[in-house]
Amino acid sequence: MLIFIGTLYFFYVVLKLYISTAEISFVTHARNLPPVVLSGENYQKAADYKLANERFGIISNLYDYALFLFWILFGLGALESLLIKSGGVVESTLFVLSFLAINFILALPFDLYSTFVKDKKFGFSTIDAKTYLLDTLKSIVIFILLGGALIALISWIISVFALWWLWAFVAIFAVVLFINMLYPTFIAPLFNKFTPLEEGELKGNIEVLMLKSGLKSSGIFTMDASKRDNRLNAYFGGLGKSKRVVLFDTLIKKLNQNELLAVLGHELGHFKHKDILKNIAATAMLLFVLFAIFGNLPNSVYEALNLKSGAHGVIAIFLLLSSVVGFVVMPLFGLLSRKNEYKADEYGSECESKEALASALIKLADENKSFPRSHPLYIAFYHTHPPLVERLKALGVEYGK
Ligand SMILES: [Zn+2]
Repeated sequence: MLIFIGTLYFFYVVLKLYISTAEISFVTHARNLPPVVLSGENYQKAADYKLANERFGIISNLYDYALFLFWILFGLGALESLLIKSGGVVESTLFVLSFLAINFILALPFDLYSTFVKDKKFGFSTIDAKTYLLDTLKSIVIFILLGGALIALISWIISVFALWWLWAFVAIFAVVLFINMLYPTFIAPLFNKFTPLEEGELKGNIEVLMLKSGLKSSGIFTMDASKRDNRLNAYFGGLGKSKRVVLFDTLIKKLNQNELLAVLGHELGHFKHKDILKNIAATAMLLFVLFAIFGNLPNSVYEALNLKSGAHGVIAIFLLLSSVVGFVVMPLFGLLSRKNEYKADEYGSECESKEALASALIKLADENKSFPRSHPLYIAFYHTHPPLVERLKALGVEYGK
């Protein structure tokens, strides 16, 4: 069984490495083609950033694999003999939190390198050590409070119910809904300042746009994203009353009013088409499949990993292996998401104009140095948004430069 699990994970790692190397050779070749969409210099810089990211990804993938082997060969067994005595809810929670804490610490050098070396080198990251430290501390506190409570709840469900995986699924799904509701109004403001958009021509135009699209204004905010990163973005989030549109301050600085309205129209398109609810439904389906699989593993799996089949073991195995199942279904999620993006683009261009949206998308890609071309396999697995070239084509806009 140990060999079976190791081989399964090995194929997962090999598939990821294969996709990364395919992308690297694709981009290396495309870098030398005549630039599209982006200006010549940025086209090349975007390719370099993409290549740096993929190479970094390969190294961190290999590191993850080493970590996985460490856990299944010695780590889990050792941690269990250290922490699990009677196997109650408290011990299980402590076990899972320690497992996650060790993983977090071991992954920290990669995060530090990515933020302070790689993304600084390409001029994206503006974060200072103080903000980084505060972010990390806040995340840890939130995680121990919310995550700890959730792990305790799941441990309890596992130890009490025979059909625990079904109840655990219901509990986790309720938490997903809860977090979606809390995130925009309670969690995100712990990290960023959200300011209601200033009164003025832009806000007036936005209100007209909202009225036209029949959506109740639930708040449009700007966020001080520039304290961490230079990249431009906008997003929509929340459920029910907490629904809001967030425009990064970096976006407002760089786009003109028509372009901003087109981007906003795109985000309103997501609301109009109920994409948040669709995403939540897709997540629910994935969670159900994961729980059905991990709730019915044969005992030999636990024996192979030197674990008792208590709550702590179930959760640890779930955390170690669910990414493999998740990866297999990623192309499906990507397909759904890219379809939604096309529809939101359509809506955004109807709100403003095709030209305004296209010009906004080009500016976004240019400023964010996102390379406009990608290997089809890479797109299938990783792209939540269609490549820019395809989006412009769908809008019917000429983009050659
Ligand atoms: Zn979108």
